[in-house]
Amino acid sequence: MENQILGLHHITAIAAGARRNYDFYTRVLGLRFVKKTVNFDDPETYHFYYGDEAGSPGTILTFFPWEGIDKGRRGTGMATEIGYSVPEGSLDFWLKRFGEHNVLFNKPTQRFGETYLPFLDPDGLKLELIVSKTPDARRPWATGEIGADVATRGFHNVTLTLADIKPTAYVLTEIFGYRLIDQHVNRYRYATSAVENAALVDLVEVPGEAEGLVAGGTVHHVAFRVKDQAVQTAFRERIAEAGLQVTDRIDRNYFYSVYFREPGGVLFEIATDYPGFTVDEPLADLGTHLKLPAQYESHRAEIEQVLPPLT
Ligand code: ZN
Repeated sequence: MENQILGLHHITAIAAGARRNYDFYTRVLGLRFVKKTVNFDDPETYHFYYGDEAGSPGTILTFFPWEGIDKGRRGTGMATEIGYSVPEGSLDFWLKRFGEHNVLFNKPTQRFGETYLPFLDPDGLKLELIVSKTPDARRPWATGEIGADVATRGFHNVTLTLADIKPTAYVLTEIFGYRLIDQHVNRYRYATSAVENAALVDLVEVPGEAEGLVAGGTVHHVAFRVKDQAVQTAFRERIAEAGLQVTDRIDRNYFYSVYFREPGGVLFEIATDYPGFTVDEPLADLGTHLKLPAQYESHRAEIEQVLPPLT
C-alpha cells in the first residue's frame, strides 16, 4: 500500500469572487477553511483550501478566486463533477438546506447503487453529495448549523469527462494502479484498493461533446496522493517512461507536487501527504491568518492591500 497512489489528495477549481466562494464553502457547505494563502504563481490572487479539521488528503478542495474571471464551460478534457461522501439519511437535511440558501440542485438520483444529490456552487461548479455504499469512518468537520451526523466526510469520487476514455484509463490502470469496478452506459468507475475513501475516479465518455473551457466555475486540476517524495519520484519516472511530459518537483509549502497533463486533457498532480497545513500555523488556528510563502513575506503589506476582504 505504501508505495501506491492513495486516492485523491485535493481538487483545485476556479471561482470568480473570493468572498462569495468563502461564504458558500464555509457556511452553506460547512467545510473548514484550512488555509488562506496566495496563488504562488500570482500572489495578488488568493489560494483557498477547504477540508476537514486538519485538511487531510482526500478532503481538500482548493480555489483560485480570480475576481471577475469569465465563466468557464464544462466539456471534454476536464474534471466535471466533484463527489463528497455524506452519511446515510443526511440528504433530507441537505435538500432543505439547499432550498433555504438558494443553491441550485437536482433531485437525488441513483447511480452504481448509491444515492447522489447534484448541486452547483455560486460559480456553477458541479458537485454531488453521495451516500456511499462503502463505510466512511472519516471524522467530519461539524459547524453550528451542520452537525457531525450530516456533515460531509471528504471526497467520494471525481468525474472526468472525455472524448475517448482509453488513454486516461491507461494512466489510471497501468500507472496509478486503479482498476475498472463498474460501468453504466458511458460512465466507467475506477477504484484503487490502496485506500478506503476518496478512492474512486469516474470516466464519462462523450465523443461528440465540445472541449471544456477552464475558467470560473470549472476544475483546474486533480491531485492524487502519495505518502512521500520517494514514492512521488517513482511515479514521476513511470509517467515520463510512458512518454508524458511531467514537471520537476515543486514545493507547495503544504505538500510537494509534480504535474502532468494526462492524454485525455486533464491536468493531474501527484502530491505528498506532508508537511500538511500545520506547517505554518497550529491546528486550532488553521485558516485564520493570511499565510505567505517565504518569497512573498517581504511584500505582505502590498499583497494584503490588493486582496479582497472576506467579511
Ligand atoms: Zn494542486
